[in-house]
Amino acid sequence: MDKEKALDAINLKWEQECSCALREQATQAVPGEGSAKSEIVFIGEAPGAKEDEEGRPFVGAAGKFLNEMLANINLKREDVYITNIVKYRPPNNRDPSSEEIESCQAWLSEQIKIIQPKIIVTLGRHALTHFLPDKKISDAHGRAFRKTFPNIGTLVFFALYHPAAALYNGSMREILIRDFRKIPKVLKKITSLD
Ligand code: URA
Repeated sequence: MDKEKALDAINLKWEQECSCALREQATQAVPGEGSAKSEIVFIGEAPGAKEDEEGRPFVGAAGKFLNEMLANINLKREDVYITNIVKYRPPNNRDPSSEEIESCQAWLSEQIKIIQPKIIVTLGRHALTHFLPDKKISDAHGRAFRKTFPNIGTLVFFALYHPAAALYNGSMREILIRDFRKIPKVLKKITSLD
């Protein structure tokens, strides 16, 4: 089965099977979207109101900012895969609990195993510490880290501030735009190690 079909199949399976308690209040699941063949996967925290309404990740103000930063490095949303740690909107956009993150964990792991990206770009503190619990976003942003997991293998992570946090914060916004522009260079470096 090709990657696109495999990803559609597991997203469909988890939409039916996910035990996350957030499901009860959410309008629908927001599995993720983009290319299953992408070398880059972007991972945010959890869907917000607009994402919950549309069933698509990063379609609100933070998503518009993400699209602009992708354009800065000559990429479109369709070229990459975009998803979240948690696939359902937490009420009032509160932080997802550790139980909710745990319930959606296998879904995310299966997505990563199918796509096998060269790099995972974590958007914000929650996505970063999900994979790298010892890291602090204030130190880790703009840097790449390699880590091996028993279930998903060895992955490279590139840490960024969350576009929603940076959107209305002038200095964080500048840092995020600057860090984002490093992605092609980091990707090239990883590819040269292949
Ligand atoms: N913030 C996130 O972390 N994810 C989305 O999909 C939208 C906003």
